[in-house]
Amino acid sequence: MHTYTGPTYEMAIKQFDIAADYLNLNQEARERVRVPKRAMIVSVPTRMDDGRVVMFAGFRVQHNLSLGPCKGGLRYSPDVDLGEVAALAMWMSWKCALVGLPYGGAKGGICCDPSTMSRGEVERMTRRFTQEIVPMIGPEIDIMAPDMGTNEQTMAWIMDTYSMQVGHTVPGIVTGKPVTIGGSLGRVEATGRGVFYCVQEALQLLDIPIEGLRIAVQGFGNVGGTCAALFHAAGAKVIAVSDVRSGVVHHDGLDVYELRRHVEKTGVVAGFDQADPISNEELLTLECDVLVPAAIERQITEANAGKLRCRILAEGANGPTTPEADAIINENGIFIIPDVLCNAGGVIVSYFEWVQDLQNYFWTESEVNSRLRDIITRAFQAVYQLHTREHISMRLAALAVGVRKVAEAKTLRGLFP
Ligand code: NAD
Repeated sequence: MHTYTGPTYEMAIKQFDIAADYLNLNQEARERVRVPKRAMIVSVPTRMDDGRVVMFAGFRVQHNLSLGPCKGGLRYSPDVDLGEVAALAMWMSWKCALVGLPYGGAKGGICCDPSTMSRGEVERMTRRFTQEIVPMIGPEIDIMAPDMGTNEQTMAWIMDTYSMQVGHTVPGIVTGKPVTIGGSLGRVEATGRGVFYCVQEALQLLDIPIEGLRIAVQGFGNVGGTCAALFHAAGAKVIAVSDVRSGVVHHDGLDVYELRRHVEKTGVVAGFDQADPISNEELLTLECDVLVPAAIERQITEANAGKLRCRILAEGANGPTTPEADAIINENGIFIIPDVLCNAGGVIVSYFEWVQDLQNYFWTESEVNSRLRDIITRAFQAVYQLHTREHISMRLAALAVGVRKVAEAKTLRGLFP
């Protein structure tokens, strides 16, 4: 029987095996690095507004403890399960190691649909989940952050619940919390900003100017919304965006600021009067310069990979491209900025937030952004150099750097972590 299952987990394992083969990892290192170190499944009894008690399933997976505390987001989604969380934890391990952060990878999730729950219901569920996993978290053990369906407010509730438990305020228990209670300036925008910095590096290499660049973005939440706004501000044309329901397209470029106001008011991109409707599937195959999948996993598959008409694929989401699709995209000469590199801005600034909390010394937004740029562009260049030197794909180069570091740490330390 396998503990971790499902298509997203299988995809993460397939990617790992390709990297392990390339690195020639021996059997022992392979087995130790492949499997998550530990996981917790909890039932989260939550009192709903109508008086019923609903049991939500919650998960936390810690993939690797060899490089420092675990770090990773918390996802609220109706589809989340143990296998998906384990895959996301694994990707966090490679990502942290790739960009040189002193963390192992982790991820959490609660199987729920926050869009159908009241604020009070989400708060009670969040606090109870935190209470249930207290033995597994701590500022030196495992630090959570926002992911799909969670935000700054979720992190504030987690921090408060944990602090009540230990009897004093512990800001370092989560990152991505509001600035007023120890959050970092620049954290909300960090992932989208990191995507923007990575694309700028790629544009320079491919000699493509940013003015007039055509961009399509799947997912208009934290990551997709921020990166669309940054491209818009830089003079690029954001020609299409979408959310879980549908999308909008305007070939002369959308007014992203107006669109954000529309989404704030209505909750969806549909109905924006300065654009035409488009489906998620159509958006992915639009002719454009840069395609940014910034929603969920496995959106680009064997079925649609051959129809992509972008020059650069910048993966804002985790795991948007399956290994089968990867091969097709590489063959077609599309430049891929793989997820573990492209969306690493979030965890980089989360690391800054954790450091600021531990020192009680806070940085300016421009310090945060310039240090983010330093780290992510250095990682981009390292991956690009390996890609050109060894004639391997950008994804394999990124995974190889991350997996190698985790394997080395395990070998150096011994069997404990
Ligand atoms: P979010 O909840 O803020 O936004 C998600 C967006 O995707 C929303 O617009 C939603 O409507 C849309 N969406 C959801 N399901 C969809 C579907 N089936 N088809 C099309 N659109 C869909 O989430 P986010 O924080 O922006 O995260 C997006 C992705 O980025 C996830 O893969 C997440 O793991 C990854 N990521 C997030 C961060 C972060 O700091 N928030 C960091 C690294 C990676």
